[in-house]
Formats: sequence, C-alpha cells, structure tokens
Amino acid sequence: PSAVPHKPRVFCLYPIDDSVKEYAERYFDFTCEPDPRVNQWKEQAEAVMVRSNKITPSDVKSLNPGFKFVGKHGVGVDAIAVRELSEKGIRVMNTPGVNASAVAELALTLSLCLARDVASIDRRIRSGEVVSKAEGGLKGFQLSGKTLGLIGGGNIGYQLGKMFYGSFESKIIVYDPHLHPSMIQKWSDLLPSSHFKRVDNLDDLLKESDVVSIHVPLLDSTKDLINEEQLKKMKKSSILINTARGGIVNEDALFKALEKGWITGAGIDAFSIEPPSKENFGKLIDHPRVLSTPHIGAASLDVIRITALAVVEHLVEAFRG
Ligand code: NAD
Repeated sequence: PSAVPHKPRVFCLYPIDDSVKEYAERYFDFTCEPDPRVNQWKEQAEAVMVRSNKITPSDVKSLNPGFKFVGKHGVGVDAIAVRELSEKGIRVMNTPGVNASAVAELALTLSLCLARDVASIDRRIRSGEVVSKAEGGLKGFQLSGKTLGLIGGGNIGYQLGKMFYGSFESKIIVYDPHLHPSMIQKWSDLLPSSHFKRVDNLDDLLKESDVVSIHVPLLDSTKDLINEEQLKKMKKSSILINTARGGIVNEDALFKALEKGWITGAGIDAFSIEPPSKENFGKLIDHPRVLSTPHIGAASLDVIRITALAVVEHLVEAFRG
C-alpha cells in the first residue's frame, strides 16, 4: 500500500516477526511486545494489534479519544468487546482466509500419505518389521486423475481444489448450497467446466469422489453431517479428510466404516474432543488407515508471519481511509 498521511501511533500486543515489525515501522509510530511501553496502549494508541489478547468493556471505557481501529490476528473476535468498541465508532478488522493455504496443504498432505499408506508403512519399519516392496507399496493408489469432493467450497476448499487440479488434473465436485457469488466466480475462473461440478445433493458428491475433504464450519446444520448413512454411500476405495471441526464427522461411525471397509482411510485434524488422546479415541487413532493431527491445520510458521502482515496491511488501508 502507498504511504498513509501521518504516522499513526500503533501498538502490537503480541510478539511478531522482525520483518513484519520493520514493515509496520514504515507506516506507523510502532511499539510492539516485548517492549514494556506496550502497557501504555490505552492512553496513546490510535490502533492496536491483538492476537489472543483481551479487550474488555472496561478497557474500552479507558481508551483515548483518538483511538480508531483494532486489528485482529486470525478470525475469532470473542475475546474482544466488539459491541462496546463499535458504539464508540471503533472498527474491528480480522483476517479471514489468510490461513487457507496452510490448512489446504495439510489436507493435501493427509490425502497423499493415506493414498500411499506412508505413515503406516513407516511405523512398521520403525518397529523392526521388514516390509517388502510388494507388500508395502502395491496397496497404494495415486491421486492423479482422481476426483476430489469438497464439502464447503469457501477459502480453504478453494485452495485445496486449486492444488488438486494443478497437481493431479483432478475433477472437483463442490457441495456448498450457500456458496458466496464471489467464490462461484473464482471457481469458474479457475476450472474448465469439464473439471468442475457443483451439486445440490451431498449423496452425489459422496458416491463420485475418491477423496472427500470437509471445509465447512461447525453449525447445527453440519453437526454429524457425516454419519453411518453417509459413509456407506462413499466409494470403498475412498478416503475422508476432516481439517474443519470435530463434531462434523461422527467418530464412532467413522471407526465402523473403516472396520467394515465402507471407506479406505481417514485423515483427521479436528476431533470432537481436543487434543485427540487414546483415552477418548483409542480405537480410531490406533487404526492402521487413520492419520491424526492435533488441529495443526493453520499452525505453520508462515501463517503466523503472513497473518501479522495482513493485520498491518488492513490497518494501513484503514488509516488511508
Ligand atoms: P469459508 O467461510 O471461506 O468457507 C466455508 C464454506 O462452508 C462457505 O462457502 C459456506 O457457504 C459453506 N457452508 C456453510 N454451511 C454449509 C453446509 N451446511 N453445507 C455445505 N457448505 C456449507 O471458511 P474457510 O476459511 O474455508 O474455513 C472452513 C472451516 O475450516 C472453518 O469453518 C473452520 O471450522 C475450519 N478451519 C480449521 C482450521 C484448522 O486449523 N484445522 C483452521 C481454519 C479453519
């Protein structure tokens, strides 16, 4: 962005990468944690950057009259007194979509590892077993030319679709009844009609997809969206990936589906109780064709830096008006 008219006084209440700090200093009179002067933000700041920091209603009461903006690292604003801030005309800006490629990369990683049984073979070799090529390798399948079914075609679903199409020339099926018009446009700009289909019926997606990946929020309408009935409709050779939220896939049903051979494998970054433990999900986690991660979809070092940069950019734009 081009320069803002004056250098506003901006405080960042969490530590950020030096490169982001240098960028912020080009535009702002900037004070950042761990500098002890960050404590003076309420008296001096025109804007503040927060990550998991709270802004309480009583903080809002003691803000200086020149305070204008809150830049939130990430999406959730539940720790921020948004109503009290907006009553004072203060805008809160978050950074949706910034972590999309990180989550999509994890969904792709889980898909590739499951397709070639990588983690399970690695575990067997580590345990001292001699695994022959014929036994270990020949069960795997490739993603090239396979069909990806996306439950949710928003920011993360789109990034994953782009990766599958770009890498594997996959056909992409999207089930998302409320897909935003701007996303519909993005999808049709990305994919030829031969490789893209939107379906109104989840069953069509489940029946046709080799990889089913979930990218919807947890809502009343998505709770237990994938249960026994749906899992039975999937291809026996297919894999299910959930990097969205626990509770969308019923874990008991998933274990049954793997045991009965209704599907081939599952990659799970989101459990109904987190972090995932043997105590809560022993049988599922132990299953040879399950890969588990503890909600690390957005937890890459790059995301932390890129998100902080996005907060700074939002603030620069906001001050430019
Ligand atoms: P997004 O808002 O861009 O996209 C979500 C899509 O889901 C929207 O297009 C919406 O229309 C669609 N949708 C809502 N209800 C639906 C339903 N009942 N059936 C089908 N589609 C429905 O969000 P996003 O950035 O793509 O994130 C998707 C989800 O991923 C988030 O809601 C969050 O739960 C999860 N997430 C996980 C991690 C992680 O660390 N694993 C990180 C970020 C987000």
